[in-house]
Amino acid sequence: MAASAVPGGASPVSVTFLGGLGEIGRNCAAIEQDGAILLIDCGLMFPDNDMLGVDLVLPDFSWLVERSASIVGLVATHGHEDHVGGLSYLLREASFPIYGTALTLGLARGRIEEAGLLGRTDLRVVADGEQVKVGPFELEFLPVTHSVPEGVATVIRTAQGVVMHSGDIKIDLTPVDGRLTDLTRMGAIADSEGVRLLLADSTNAEERGFSRSETSVGRVLYDLMHEHEGRRVITACFASHVHRVQQIADAAVSFGRKVAPLGRSMKRNVSMAREMGLLRIPDGSLIDIEEVDDHDPGEVCVICTGSQGEPMSALTLLSQSENRFLKLTPHDTVILSSHPIPGNEHDVSRVIGNLIRMGAEVVHSGISDVHATGHAKADELKLLQSIIKPEWFVPVHGEYRHLVAHARIAEAMGRPRDHVLVAEDGDRLLLDEDGLRPDGRVPSEYVYVHGTVGDIGSDVLRERRILAGDGMVSAIVVVDRERREVVAGPEIATRGWVDESESAEMLAELSRRVHDAASAALADDEELPRVRRAVRKAAGGFVSQRTRRRPMIVPVVLES
Ligand SMILES: [Zn+2]
Ligand SMILES: [Zn+2]
Repeated sequence: MAASAVPGGASPVSVTFLGGLGEIGRNCAAIEQDGAILLIDCGLMFPDNDMLGVDLVLPDFSWLVERSASIVGLVATHGHEDHVGGLSYLLREASFPIYGTALTLGLARGRIEEAGLLGRTDLRVVADGEQVKVGPFELEFLPVTHSVPEGVATVIRTAQGVVMHSGDIKIDLTPVDGRLTDLTRMGAIADSEGVRLLLADSTNAEERGFSRSETSVGRVLYDLMHEHEGRRVITACFASHVHRVQQIADAAVSFGRKVAPLGRSMKRNVSMAREMGLLRIPDGSLIDIEEVDDHDPGEVCVICTGSQGEPMSALTLLSQSENRFLKLTPHDTVILSSHPIPGNEHDVSRVIGNLIRMGAEVVHSGISDVHATGHAKADELKLLQSIIKPEWFVPVHGEYRHLVAHARIAEAMGRPRDHVLVAEDGDRLLLDEDGLRPDGRVPSEYVYVHGTVGDIGSDVLRERRILAGDGMVSAIVVVDRERREVVAGPEIATRGWVDESESAEMLAELSRRVHDAASAALADDEELPRVRRAVRKAAGGFVSQRTRRRPMIVPVVLES
């Protein structure tokens, strides 16, 4: 470990994690020195199935918004939604420049532009190896391989020495574009300056060995095109995975197929990546999806979105016969060049089932090596530790189990146990000449977006779960408090609880119980809130006793 020469009395540096440590998604970290904040990524998370109706999940920005004037810039490490998808929300509350490679900024730009917020930022393109001063920080961007081109690791030179952030990283020694993870430069910085703190991707820390190279997928795709000659081929992958798109296109073109992009983001990204020179498909080999039927099935390869079974995606619509230009037949082969992200297995499985029902032959990662991960596995993470030899280490980007697995790897590679900190969302760490230590917490709850931002909390979600699981029962009573009696009702209305037409007797009994409870409360001269509580208790007790279900009870007590 190179001795880090930090002068005594130098400003301390703090690192605050707003997301990504405890889940795969909504990555966002703040590095702070002398009152200046540098952000690393600002991502979103796609909701779990139990987050009913939620469109997406954001970091809690409240801590940042209070300090918005201190934000000197943001580094976008790469163009995935879990790293840049939150920008169009944060930029509503704060204004700052964004640094990233051309493709990263190209991918990030879409949502920011749609939200009309381009005027709130300045997109500053950086090149591999470039050094930029942002506030008090000297930044350097190092190329890394991942499942989207042009990802970077960020070297942040602070008053407390070098903080290195890996970004999402794998060590692919034969990447499609030949742009290698710059291990040499990482090692040089480690040897000359020393890395005081490393923050590194933990996604695959539990997986043994090395990840497969992206180019190995190309060979599998080539073999599949060969095997399925004469049949129409439809492939699905992430629209941002330009290298996968390249390999699908290469395999298709080498068998004389025309390539037809399908899905809004696929079309947009194919055209953007071609303009940037990152994707090479000959003009004559690219056709519009509307022209697919002008060609023999064996001369076509469709590349579409929806490899995660997303509800409104191209592949899902295809699987439901809902695409205008393309109808699947038993002469089609569908290749899902992807692996379901945890939580999406069910949706993907349903899409595969529907495709098979339509007679198509389906190839997926369960039966063929049509996918390679974009995240380093355990042996790659060990290699990083051996090259970077950080003084302090904090695993990032993962569920808690992944973070802990990554911490164990660092320890196995010789990091002293007390120099490895497992932090979580909301944790703030302080780095000074004495080292790295916890320094309090900031708000870091999930912020659920449904329609407009942040208007639902965990209470609303709990209510939605009750409504979804057991339905609701409302009881409306009109009372006269002077005469201490019920003058109208109870009116019982239910949704999602029982079939009302077949339960008339039970509903009548429920109505009687509610009437009795309200009358008794009135006779005791109770205030309206107490009458309401009596109605809720009577209705809830009856409902649960008779049906063993717990629908939401909505008592409404009105004064005549
Ligand atoms: Zn990523
Ligand atoms: Zn990520």
